[in-house]
Amino acid sequence: MKTIEQIAAELQGYDPQSLPADAVLAFLAKLVEPVHESEVVGVFDALGRVLAQDVVSPISVPPHDNSAMDGFAFDGGQLQANQPLALQVVGTALAGKAWLGTVSASQCVKIMTGAVMPVGLDTVVPQELAQVSDSHISIAPDLIQRGDNRRMLGEDLLQGHSALQKGELLTPAALGLLASLGIASVPVLRRLRVAYFSTGDEILSLGEAPREGAVFDSNRYTVFGLLTRLGVQVIDLGVVPDDPARLEAAFAQAADQADAIITSGGVSVGEADYTKTIMKKLGDVAFWKIAMRPGRPMAVGRIGKAILFGLPGNPVAVMVTFLAFVRPALLQMMGCRAAATPLLRARSLEPIRKKPGRTEYQRGIVRGGADGCLQVATTGNQGSGVLRSMVQANGLIVLHHAQGNVAVGDEVDVMMFDGVI
Ligand code: AMP
Ligand code: MG
Repeated sequence: MKTIEQIAAELQGYDPQSLPADAVLAFLAKLVEPVHESEVVGVFDALGRVLAQDVVSPISVPPHDNSAMDGFAFDGGQLQANQPLALQVVGTALAGKAWLGTVSASQCVKIMTGAVMPVGLDTVVPQELAQVSDSHISIAPDLIQRGDNRRMLGEDLLQGHSALQKGELLTPAALGLLASLGIASVPVLRRLRVAYFSTGDEILSLGEAPREGAVFDSNRYTVFGLLTRLGVQVIDLGVVPDDPARLEAAFAQAADQADAIITSGGVSVGEADYTKTIMKKLGDVAFWKIAMRPGRPMAVGRIGKAILFGLPGNPVAVMVTFLAFVRPALLQMMGCRAAATPLLRARSLEPIRKKPGRTEYQRGIVRGGADGCLQVATTGNQGSGVLRSMVQANGLIVLHHAQGNVAVGDEVDVMMFDGVI
C-alpha cells in the first residue's frame, strides 16, 4: 500500500497548492484498490452489481435456426431472378412446436416467429408478401433473397464464447442476457461500504430548531443520493460538530465500518476548526487546493484501511467534486472496469467567461436544437452554494483546464446527469 507521499512522488509536477483536475484523477487512480471478496446472488439481485468472474455462454442463443417473421419457410435455392415462385403449403411450424416432416422443393411450411426452421429450409417469406390461396402460395419475382428472415443458431451468443466479463456493471440488458443463457445466479463483488458525515458547528440536522447563523445540512442528503445511485452500501454518521472528541469518534467509527469515508466541510485553507487537525492526527492525508471551480479545497488520504474523501462544505462544490473525482474512484473500488461515460458536445447558447488554468464546472441545461445538434445554456447564478442550480440542470458544462472564454455558438463538453443524479 503506497503512502500519500509515495504516490505524490510518482506524479510529475505534483503541487498540492494548485492541482489540475487530471492530476487529481491520476492520483486517486493510484490511491484506491478494488474490493476482491465476492458473493453469489440471484439474477434479480444482481442489478447494479459488479461481476466477479467472466461468464462463458453454456449454450448457444438462439439454440436453433428460427424464423424472424410470421410467414412461409422454404428452400431459398428455388428462387430465380425475374421469376415468381409457387409453393404448396404442407404444414405449420409453431414457436415451441417444431414441424418435423420433410419438405420437397416445390413445398413450404407455414411458420411463426421464433419457430424452429424445418430441416433443409433456409428462407422465410413474410405472410404479407406472399399471395395465399388455399394450400398454395406464390411469391412475386425478386421480392425475397435466399436466407431472408432466418435467425441463425448462436447469432446472439455461441456456446463457449465470452458473454460477460469480470468487472462489468450489471445493467438491465446484462440481467436479460444472463437469463437468456439459463443462468440463475452469478458471482458479484461485495458491495462497497461508504460512511459519510457532515461537519460544522453551524450545520443543523433536520428537525433541529433553527438558530442564528445556522443552516440545514443538505450535503448528507445529496451524498446519500449520489452513493445510493452508485449502488454502494451507505453508512450515515449524521452531523458532527466541530468538537475534537466527537470528530475523532466519528472518523474512528467510519474507518472501522467502511471502505471509504466522505465528509463535507472544514477542509478550506485557513479553516479554524478541528476537522483537518483530526484528519491529520488519525490518518495519512493530503490537503489540496484543486485548480477548479467550484470546489477548490479537498482532503484525500487514508484513515486506517478506509479511503478518505474530505469534500468542501459548499453544497454545489460537494456534488461537483463527487461527480468529477469521488465517483470515478468509488467505481474503481467497486471493481468496475467500465470506461467513463463520454462527455457530449453541445453548442453554447450564451457567452461564458472562463479563465485558463483551472477546470470549471457550470450547471447546464442541455436540449436538442432545431438543427438536430445539442444546445446548452447555463442555469444562471453559478454560486457554489446555489443548490437550486443543480436541480435545474441536467448536466455540467465542463470547461477544461487550458480553455478560455466561450462565445455564443462555440461547442463545449457536457457531462450529463442521466442516471447519476
Ligand atoms: P466550509 O468548507 O466548512 O468552510 O463550508 C463552506 C460553506 O458551506 C459554509 O457556508 C457552510 O455553512 C456550508 N456548508 C458546510 N457544510 C454544509 C452542509 N452539510 N450543508 C449545507 N451547507 C454546508
Ligand atoms: Mg466549516
